Amino acid sequence: MEFAYDDQNIFAKILRGEIPNKTVFENAHALAFEDIEPQAPVHVLVIPKGSYVSLDHFARDASPEEQAGFMQAVAEVCRITQVDDGFRAISNARTHGVQDVPHFHMHIIGGTQLGRMLQK
Ligand code: AMP
Repeated sequence: MEFAYDDQNIFAKILRGEIPNKTVFENAHALAFEDIEPQAPVHVLVIPKGSYVSLDHFARDASPEEQAGFMQAVAEVCRITQVDDGFRAISNARTHGVQDVPHFHMHIIGGTQLGRMLQK
């Protein structure tokens, strides 16, 4: 599988500071910010700072330090947003996964009772 990264995607622009974001947490390897169209009271996107298209790209090619930094950011987002009663983590990939922004991101969604996972 070839992963071609487009550095003009909107999250690349956020990482370069060209577009503002509402930052929830940041470390050396990851940035977490509020989704611009929240689907629930808590809707945060966690993205790596490296140029990865999708979860499978990140899992295959990111260094252990990048992967640990990303997971630390997920943990911090869950702590900061106080989703103690639960949440959903979603990462859409490519066409079948209906991915809109081609920079790997994890949606952290919660703050209310969610419905079942998939609509067919
Ligand atoms: P996906 O369909 O999984 O690629 O999700 C992309 C997400 O990015 C959607 O939930 C959008 O609402 C969100 N989004 C798009 N542009 C921005 C932005 N400038 N700031 C924050 N979130 C955004």
